[in-house]
Amino acid sequence: MPEIKRVLFDQDVIAARVEALAQRISTDYAGKELVLICILKAAAIFAADLMRRLSVSAKIEFIQAASYGMSAASSREVVIVQDLHKDIENRHILLVDTIIDTGHTLHALLGLLAERKPASMNIVVLLDKKSRRSTEVPVAYCGFEVPDEFVVGYGMDYRDQYRTLPYIAIVEPGE
Ligand code: 5GP
Ligand code: MG
Repeated sequence: MPEIKRVLFDQDVIAARVEALAQRISTDYAGKELVLICILKAAAIFAADLMRRLSVSAKIEFIQAASYGMSAASSREVVIVQDLHKDIENRHILLVDTIIDTGHTLHALLGLLAERKPASMNIVVLLDKKSRRSTEVPVAYCGFEVPDEFVVGYGMDYRDQYRTLPYIAIVEPGE
């Protein structure tokens, strides 16, 4: 298992940023009913914290995607492995993910969900590894830009470990 190299964002820093994002989202969606779509598994903790800070009416749904195929992100096929249980037609959708990297996964999910004719669709991510973006993805709300390093904690894993850390840390990759 790789070692934790250093803490990037501690609990207080994360909480303050989540609060600020929730305030912006609440202002922007005032008077509307929002459906948060939490992208499993990594976004579970972020979505749980974010939804408790919203002052607009919001529902939550869950979706899980997997990507298969070649190692280059852009050539991988994104498949929904656990779908929503509700129709999203005419709903205001906010896709919630913890981190966007190449953008391939969110780009593909946006395309798949757009076919279901939501009234609107936006994305909120806590972390953005902007330097790695290879597909243009409209990210409406972003917590922090992060460097191109592998991060864990606050829902994010390394081989399904470290998700339960309450802070976000950089790990030293390798066996
Ligand atoms: P993308 O399709 O944007 O390249 O990749 C998005 C997914 O890759 C994220 O939802 C996340 O699951 C995973 N990912 C990308 N960077 C990191 C990282 O630094 N740490 C962890 N734990 N997962 C990452
Ligand atoms: Mg993962």
